[in-house]
Amino acid sequence: MAIATTDPRTGEVLRTFDELTDEQVEDRLARADRAARTYRLTSHEERAGWLRAAADILDKRTDEIAGLMTLEMGKTKKSAAAEIGKCAAVLRYYADRAADLLADSPVEDASTVNASQAYTRWLPIGVVLAIMPWNFPLWQAMRFAAPALAAGNVGLLKHASNVPQTALFMEELFREAGFPDDVFQTLLVGSSKIEAIIRDDRVAAATLTGSEGAGVAVGRTAGESLKKVVLELGGSDAFVVMPSADLERAAQVATTSRTQNNGQSCISAKRFIVHSDVYDEFMEHFTAKMSALTVGDPMEEGTDVGPLATEQGREDVEELVKDATDKGATVVVGGTRPEGDGWWYPPTILTGITEEMDVFSEELFGPVALVFRVDDLDEAIELANATRFGLGSNAWTNDVEEQERFIRDLAAGQTFINGMTASFPALPFGGVKASGHGRELAELGIKEFMNGKTVWVA
Ligand code: NDP
Repeated sequence: MAIATTDPRTGEVLRTFDELTDEQVEDRLARADRAARTYRLTSHEERAGWLRAAADILDKRTDEIAGLMTLEMGKTKKSAAAEIGKCAAVLRYYADRAADLLADSPVEDASTVNASQAYTRWLPIGVVLAIMPWNFPLWQAMRFAAPALAAGNVGLLKHASNVPQTALFMEELFREAGFPDDVFQTLLVGSSKIEAIIRDDRVAAATLTGSEGAGVAVGRTAGESLKKVVLELGGSDAFVVMPSADLERAAQVATTSRTQNNGQSCISAKRFIVHSDVYDEFMEHFTAKMSALTVGDPMEEGTDVGPLATEQGREDVEELVKDATDKGATVVVGGTRPEGDGWWYPPTILTGITEEMDVFSEELFGPVALVFRVDDLDEAIELANATRFGLGSNAWTNDVEEQERFIRDLAAGQTFINGMTASFPALPFGGVKASGHGRELAELGIKEFMNGKTVWVA
């Protein structure tokens, strides 16, 4: 994929960028390595100051950067502004808490290990490579960067090739905030250069958010070079609606979840599993709300859904919908792309999904909802888990026993009851099964890339 800013509203290539040469990559790696040797010695107070300064810059430049994000990948500008707010929040979260989260963890009773003192000291591991996707172009990268920099690690960002200007802004942001030179660098390279970078001795670990294919490639290289890796991959989250739920509220959240970010979120609800007692009523609300969305220019305040980010992304969605309808699925809403330029696809609801259809097992990265009807809780849980993914999950019920069943039995990294799956700085984020492994955010996230060193003193 060429490194370029292309307007998804029109398909027009607005700006192209040269990939770094091998010599330039080597220079960047050497600089990251040098930076890591001294940055690890900075204090929590110093790092907290730089993190807060970065948050302040985001507050000041929200409108400009939101416009850039929208231009590069088509998300609504209002959602881009909200994303920037969340990035400022995660920077402040780690500025406030990193010192406590990474304080020495003492053993309960040092005499049981024959020591006068024994504890875990949390030390940075060095240079971490982050390979990031375009869908939340600032948040995905910040979710890595904020804890990494707070912990004393050094970041290298290989961002998706269609968001180069947002990627370059990240480097500029941390430089302007006062972080020491080369503590955070953006590498404008294609994915073919990633394997050699992961294998380089100066890189300690890697983290990837993206597709399963990229996850396999990065995971294999990290495994072969014996390096820690965190993988945040796709999802096909279930959204179960039981009879005791507030159906109108559930339908509203279902609509928002499925169409947020123009349908391109790994933790969007994608499979709506509805109890037969309330199926018709839920569908009435859901159909009305999906049909009422405003599709249009993402720069406009009143727009709910903009274009998909890439031409390939839209082709993938179209192919999955066509395969389903060819095999008998019913289109309740949407289902046909509009004529004209740009990569538009309408909010869509499909019913009558069977296992033979590719949508049953693949992730749908666009505003297309699959609705299933089930007769009881066991059937709902079985269908929810009938996927190789296990990222988020949603259950709508006011019955406490049912809530406990969902929490215990949904095979996912997250279960949200009566609300929309989302990421928060204070909650760990990640998946199970083919959705990846490891966690980002909160205490677990900052500790992923640390050397938890055992210290024993006689
Ligand atoms: P990719 O996985 O292709 O891209 C994500 C990042 O990985 C990009 O920086 C990309 O670089 C890089 N990459 C791709 N292939 C490799 C590789 N073999 N080795 C190293 N790095 C690689 O995602 P897409 O943009 O193609 O989106 C397709 C699918 O990815 C979606 O349908 C969805 O399933 C999933 N996805 C999941 C996301 C999530 O949040 N979990 C976010 C975005 C996508 P480059 O851009 O240069 O190819």
